[in-house]
Amino acid sequence: MRKFDGKELLVATHNTGKLEEIANLLSDYGVKVIGAGQLNLAEPDETETTFVGNARIKAHAASRTTGLPALADDSGIEVDALGGAPGVYTADWAETETGRDFILAMTKTYERLLEAKSEKPWVARFCCTLVLAWPDGHDEVFPGSIEGQIVWPMRGSEGHGYDPIFLPHGYTRTFGEMDRWEKNKISHRADAFQKLVKGCFG
Ligand code: IMP
Repeated sequence: MRKFDGKELLVATHNTGKLEEIANLLSDYGVKVIGAGQLNLAEPDETETTFVGNARIKAHAASRTTGLPALADDSGIEVDALGGAPGVYTADWAETETGRDFILAMTKTYERLLEAKSEKPWVARFCCTLVLAWPDGHDEVFPGSIEGQIVWPMRGSEGHGYDPIFLPHGYTRTFGEMDRWEKNKISHRADAFQKLVKGCFG
């Protein structure tokens, strides 16, 4: 496992929320983060069919262009009764002509489950894969996940994306009903980050 020994880490995301979360996590290790947006890096097309494939595209593109180590993530939700869909297409299910609509995406998920006539519990998991890539082409991969089930109707107004229909195993509240701190302790992203920190920043 290769260690990150720099002082600044490039994070291949244009999402300021993600960048802030990562900056907080890595500040304890004396690492400053720089966002891809600050360097005007282009966003590459995510053409792979797996989380790791798409995270690798983003991390390697940013690292190659800048000559710096770069971190990228790719995430989504997999529903077993839908053959793992929406998976890497999680954000796409929310696309409309006027932007992303996650009520639409959650309704689509529920309707597909009804069409599939699948029995409850509707087992699902959130996944997040982190890739740290170096300019010489080396990378380290850290997959994170949290198991749960899809519930209907939507519950809660916290969080984002599909949070109101995801009930993690062993909990009575959906991600949409949990505050940010509670969710961030158990989430797929927290799982992947713990592995990254242990592997490359310890
Ligand atoms: P990407 O990783 O930026 O490509 O986005 C993946 C999509 O997965 C997001 O747009 C969200 O819809 C969904 N997603 C990822 N993580 C979460 C989460 O923690 N809660 C709810 N939705 C999520």
